[in-house]
Amino acid sequence: PEASAPLVIIGTGLAGYNLAREFRQRDRTSPLLLISKDDGAFYSKPLLSASLSHGKTAQQLSQISAEEMARELDAEILVHTHVTAIAPKTKTLKLQQETGNHSAEIHYDRLVLASGARCRKLPAIAGDAQARLFRINNLGDYHRFRTALVGHKRVLLIGAGLIGCEFANDLVQAGFDVELVDPQGWPLATLLPEAAGRDLQETLTNSGVNFHLGRTICSLKHNQTGLDALLDNDEKLQADIALAALGLEADTSLAETAGLNTNRGISVDRLLQSSDPHIFALGDCAEVEGHQLFYVAPLMTCARALAKTLSGEPCPVYYGAIPVAVKTTLRPTTVCPPPPTAVGSWKISGDSEGLCAEFRSPKGELLGFAVTGAAIAKRDRLTLECLPLMN
Ligand code: FAD
Repeated sequence: PEASAPLVIIGTGLAGYNLAREFRQRDRTSPLLLISKDDGAFYSKPLLSASLSHGKTAQQLSQISAEEMARELDAEILVHTHVTAIAPKTKTLKLQQETGNHSAEIHYDRLVLASGARCRKLPAIAGDAQARLFRINNLGDYHRFRTALVGHKRVLLIGAGLIGCEFANDLVQAGFDVELVDPQGWPLATLLPEAAGRDLQETLTNSGVNFHLGRTICSLKHNQTGLDALLDNDEKLQADIALAALGLEADTSLAETAGLNTNRGISVDRLLQSSDPHIFALGDCAEVEGHQLFYVAPLMTCARALAKTLSGEPCPVYYGAIPVAVKTTLRPTTVCPPPPTAVGSWKISGDSEGLCAEFRSPKGELLGFAVTGAAIAKRDRLTLECLPLMN
């Protein structure tokens, strides 16, 4: 069976589907199989944190069905099918179907892991309401949250990072009352200097978001009508429903069944090749030469490069500077964070119309930046000047 075994892609998120599309532009005939534990619908994940205020249902966000994708890609797509183990020696995968408890084995010729990441969990806290915490990292999560919101008004949001701030922006515009709690001192604290974070905070506050920064949640309990949260300064908050946005972490357990090298994500080189020469990885599950980036732009770069590599033209990935537009529409903000190990300092300019923060090395090189409001106009110029993530 090995000779006719397909190229197998695990995952039908933006990484899996964009790779499949790029691959099919170069190779129209090799057998291609995609496997997903979800329903395989094509959707744009960034819309999940910007669609409540537009009244969009999960069904409206699900743009193309798996069936249509299979036709477009001339591929077989197995949906609601969980890959439970990889055996590199025999080049086989173990599959478990969601319904009926069927299991099966299939062969691959080459394998690509595009299996994404999962939401970080809240550390254990007191109270009986942890099970009622929502997290959103796929269409199903969005559907569950949106359905549970019906008839409610007060949302407790935990985490003021990128996704938390976007949900705060979306929820207040959809008419909800938002209490936003984060242990850090300002919003987007891992990406932005304080002045730029405060700039965003001010707009969100004026629009109705109640920030509780520098605070942690000690307990979360049910009451007769909703939830009671107790903060570490003894402040009590009441809400109907709670959403945690604590960031993502790659799930490396499947890669570990294959004995692949992993770190924070599945370790791959610039050809996106893992420690097994027949297995590749891209997207949220991958760590590319030490870079773990949970954004769309780098995974698109990877999809284009890997499609070339898989069709016989080895193409190493190159990451330039990667600016990310934060979807806080009330105060447009773009971040291009300096690498975590970068040495330098932030310089801030601007006024109430918009701020520009530049992170420069002692030699004056631009290593990262953030712009808000009217200063967004500087984005392209700064992106050009900023040093690339890879040489
Ligand atoms: P995923 O979309 O998570 O896909 C993983 C796939 O793998 C799924 O199909 C899943 O079913 C499948 N899978 C996993 N394990 C298995 C298994 N064992 N067996 C079978 N199938 C499996 N990025 C930006 O650049 N800009 C933004 O504005 C932005 N906004 C965002 C907003 C939200 C709310 C979130 C959650 C993320 C946002 N991101 C944004 C990040 C971006 O969306 C992700 O980096 C990207 O979508 C990841 O795609 P992926 O294909 O790697 O993973």
